[in-house]
Amino acid sequence: MRAANNAIRFYDGALSRMSRRELLNIAWKLGAAAVLQPLAPVTAFAQPVFRAYPFSLGVASGDPWPDSVVLWTRLAPEPFAGGGMPMANVEVQWEVAGDRTFRSVVRSGTAVARPELGHSVHVEAGGLSPHREYWYRFRCGGEVSQVGRTRTAPAAGAAVDRLRFGVCGCGHYETGFFTAYGHVADEAFDFIFHTGDYIYEGRGDAGRNPSNVRTHLGQEIYTLVDYRNRYAQYKSDPNLMAAHHSAPMIVTWDDHEVDNDYAGDRDERDTPSEVFLLRRAAAYQAYFETMPLRASAMPNGPHLDLYRRLRFGNLLDLNVLDTRQYRSKQACAASTALCQNAALDPARTILGAAQEQWLFKNLAETAATWTVLGQQVPTFARDNAGTNPEARFSMDKWDGYAGGRQRLYQRLAEARTPNPIVLSGDVHTHWCADLKMDFANPKSATVGVEFTNTSATSGGDGSDVQANWERLHADNPHLTYHSNKRGYIACTATPKTMQADFRVIDRVTVAGAPAHTAATRVVQAGQPGSLPS
Ligand code: FE
Ligand code: CA
Repeated sequence: MRAANNAIRFYDGALSRMSRRELLNIAWKLGAAAVLQPLAPVTAFAQPVFRAYPFSLGVASGDPWPDSVVLWTRLAPEPFAGGGMPMANVEVQWEVAGDRTFRSVVRSGTAVARPELGHSVHVEAGGLSPHREYWYRFRCGGEVSQVGRTRTAPAAGAAVDRLRFGVCGCGHYETGFFTAYGHVADEAFDFIFHTGDYIYEGRGDAGRNPSNVRTHLGQEIYTLVDYRNRYAQYKSDPNLMAAHHSAPMIVTWDDHEVDNDYAGDRDERDTPSEVFLLRRAAAYQAYFETMPLRASAMPNGPHLDLYRRLRFGNLLDLNVLDTRQYRSKQACAASTALCQNAALDPARTILGAAQEQWLFKNLAETAATWTVLGQQVPTFARDNAGTNPEARFSMDKWDGYAGGRQRLYQRLAEARTPNPIVLSGDVHTHWCADLKMDFANPKSATVGVEFTNTSATSGGDGSDVQANWERLHADNPHLTYHSNKRGYIACTATPKTMQADFRVIDRVTVAGAPAHTAATRVVQAGQPGSLPS
């Protein structure tokens, strides 16, 4: 019998007198895949007996600091049916080791998986050494989880020779295999940045689109349990799981974690705000439950504080942004030049006042070589005047919030923010862009460089070059690279350079295709602008 423990207890006098077999019978009748087995009448506490593996969603780590990292798992013996856990607190043991065989366990403890949070666990494992590799795992009810690799951040201000990180996002489950995430796993990055669209909310395609390779379970998702089941379907993918097991992931979201193109408290269908916010609350809760986030991101109704700053010694400062929760509604659905005038209205915002103030303060205080803004929708302008005059600008991107973009770029220039690099996703195609103070004037100052990642799968196999690329490039000379293939970006930061390897996959509709570097762009510290290597 295990020793009593002062963590949260579960006690039920009737349950405690039952045998393990009786308890399992109850579990079957209740439809739960696990049942509590109290160990003694007074000190009884949750000790589940599982009839299916509870770590079906793998493990994850995230938000590395110099002395701590978040360790995540979620107990889900029936992952696609709400989880299959009994409605009680369950204790989960965790271990962090300096080696992958766990001969040298350096930290361990017990966490409580609660029904309110879908039996997810978010451990902020502290007391770790900076800038080093660790391995972690969980145990519950005699079951042992997979082993994850993680890595702490370098100490504050420490000299750092090199950091390698991956940028990934937009993995639509139906339109391709998660091969890109598998290749991200093979890279064993120092950290991975996810730009959002981790899930898509639509109903199962069920064979309607012949190019899709698999189908979502169920209808469009609205309730907390719907979102949990959708995340579970994605997280059960072995390639996505492998990416999490390979490195800490720093996440932000885009629209599809809730609903396509939503803006603040408004969805696309003009649902009354107070009604849409019920859905947003369910989606945000499921997001917190699924992601390796710190307690500061605990949702509060339809609100969740996601923007945050992560620092990597003297080399790199990462500001993770949220351009969905606080934004003004898109200026208009079409995107003509007239619409662009509305987008210039300085009262319209994509960050919201509080986040903008927080960011602008950080941008003046950064001492690291590289100032990275990790976010979702591209900031760079893409004027389609010559190719699609009726839809010149994409009003869902920073183009639709051009007043806010101008404030950001001006801040970068005035605060002399060191070497700004913007990471973004959302548009399902690779781009490298020099960020111009005035995109209409190629001679205007370059304030930074943006690496926009393509999708992991969204859009299907893609093609070598997007239609109209030549014309688009002629109209937008600040664009220094483009590809219409699926993949990810592998970034290498050193005190002298920031290099982006644009990694592409030939096909995502067949499993296991190789990845290759289609292009490399390099930024020299102190010299704004991107160059071929
Ligand atoms: Fe997407
Ligand atoms: Ca998106």
